[in-house]
Amino acid sequence: MWAQQPDDAIARAAESLAQAERVVALTGAGISTESGIPDFRSAGGLWAIFDPAEYATLSCFLREPEKAWRLYRALAAALLGRRPNAGHVALVRLEEAGRLRGIVTQNIDGLHQTAGSGNVLELHGEARHLQCLACGRLTPALVAHLAPGPAPHCEDCGAFLKPNVVLFEEAVRDLDLAAALVRDCDLLLVIGTSAQIVPASTLPARVRAGGGSILEFNLEPTELTASGLGRSGAFVAGRIGTTLPLVVERALAR
Ligand code: ZN
Repeated sequence: MWAQQPDDAIARAAESLAQAERVVALTGAGISTESGIPDFRSAGGLWAIFDPAEYATLSCFLREPEKAWRLYRALAAALLGRRPNAGHVALVRLEEAGRLRGIVTQNIDGLHQTAGSGNVLELHGEARHLQCLACGRLTPALVAHLAPGPAPHCEDCGAFLKPNVVLFEEAVRDLDLAAALVRDCDLLLVIGTSAQIVPASTLPARVRAGGGSILEFNLEPTELTASGLGRSGAFVAGRIGTTLPLVVERALAR
């Protein structure tokens, strides 16, 4: 197979997007790194400092909330003040044009909603709220919660709070809704993720099994690229904040 030039890939992706009728987006860390949020899995990322199997677990929050909050405070500080980038905005454009059913995201940063996207399923929860470990009450996360000190308590019942993100030992959220969203999807935009981690990995497989195709936007080819993107699929290499708006604008202009 001949290597595609970037412009060819963008033209092919725009053509596929213009032709598709039931489009869904799946996003991961790569769309948010361009907003300055480091990939927690990268070398030197948060998971290299705090072993998630030790800190990001429900049992750690239950047994040693002060310790678990050291990780959460570092995580929340990494998200503080971050703004959506042109990649997030391109998805808002697509949804407002009636050409995007919704977004399934592995991110907890809320940048899709900040940008203005309406239908967003957050498989791993979100960091905008804290959740009571006993009664489940949600309370907005505040900058004050980031200051060193005791782990905060629930105003209702006095139990410790945890971030409203999915911890190890907790179930992923909205998976049924995500499966329903992609049920007859003919084009899945996979953006900033190689979609190799369960359950996000099941969505490209569902789309391909149903005869749909995949537009993949990543810096470099991934295992997903190698596994095949379908008849109308394309791999678009490069920064998402550059490539995604180009593809969306070209598709909407047709
Ligand atoms: Zn409570």
